[in-house]
Amino acid sequence: MACSVIPTAPHRVGFLPHQMMMRVPAAPPPTPAPEELRLSDLDSVGDLGAGGFARVSKARHRRTGAVFALKMSYDADPDVEEEAEVLRRAAGSPHVVDCHAMLRGPAGEPAFALEFMDAGSLGRVLCRRRGSRGGVPEPALAEAAAHCVVGLAQLHSRGVAHLDVKPDNFLASSRGEIKISDFNTSRILYGSAGERLQVPITAGTRAYFSPERFAPRARAGPHGAMAADVWGLGVTVLELFLGRFAVVPDADKASAAELELAICHGEPLRVPEEAEASPELRGFVAACLQREPTRRATVPQLLGHPFLTRRDVEASRRALRDLIVQTL
Ligand code: ADP
Ligand code: MG
Repeated sequence: MACSVIPTAPHRVGFLPHQMMMRVPAAPPPTPAPEELRLSDLDSVGDLGAGGFARVSKARHRRTGAVFALKMSYDADPDVEEEAEVLRRAAGSPHVVDCHAMLRGPAGEPAFALEFMDAGSLGRVLCRRRGSRGGVPEPALAEAAAHCVVGLAQLHSRGVAHLDVKPDNFLASSRGEIKISDFNTSRILYGSAGERLQVPITAGTRAYFSPERFAPRARAGPHGAMAADVWGLGVTVLELFLGRFAVVPDADKASAAELELAICHGEPLRVPEEAEASPELRGFVAACLQREPTRRATVPQLLGHPFLTRRDVEASRRALRDLIVQTL
């Protein structure tokens, strides 16, 4: 993950248990109704990121002052149907980035007006901490992991696997919240009659792939696709703890073959023995990073893992918020 591409920048699931709702209340900005929002009413006030298919900019609504992250495709005719459907399904999930409106650019380019997360990605937060301070201390890490697991639970409960789980796709706010984002490669797991679909799992970021995703034309049913997300979460939590990419020394320089070798046949990925880490953290990471997908923890199991359930919620929440605010 390259630090330089992530600039700094000055937003119900019926059966989910009460403790899964961790949104911090804040005064809502005066937001225009989705049907009133026009691209021509938005002023771009900064770049937030640019990927292969879309550019993300910070945009301010002229009349109300409401701020959005505007993710606009370069192409007038990209395949964003599934991404749009995922955003519709996930609407209202407190740990999934909200989509306020789906718009069209001047040449018909699809654009999503997303809730603006003012601290950028967890990848950016980590880059800012690197050097003198290293990784994320355990209390803040437990809180961050809890938000990430809840985000995944909310997505999975809507029948969606993310399939690109990594620090750059979790966004943070100065209120101390973390939300999952970027549904380019996400897949809907059930058909219209509720049948289990076999979805391709070979798109995404190889450095965060679970071993089974390296098989040519790999596909998975709902459980397998969700297990792939759990692996990505394990690598993410380990990276946040270590303050560096966990699989190989430099993810940007590693070839596809090196990554595959390390992930499928290298030493099992774990918190290093010499590191100062609690047994709970070690257990959480090991449960996520089981090579055999059926032995990997499920998201509901992770929700009940002692690394999350035994944390001091108030102290962890404060620690995470302080850490995020220090990186602004
Ligand atoms: P890509 O497909 O290019 O990876 P993303 O949706 O992940 O697209 O966005 C790229 C980057 O833009 C993110 O890593 C983040 O830094 C920034 N970004 C995206 N959405 C938002 C948002 N809602 N609020 C703030 N920053 C965002
Ligand atoms: Mg992304």
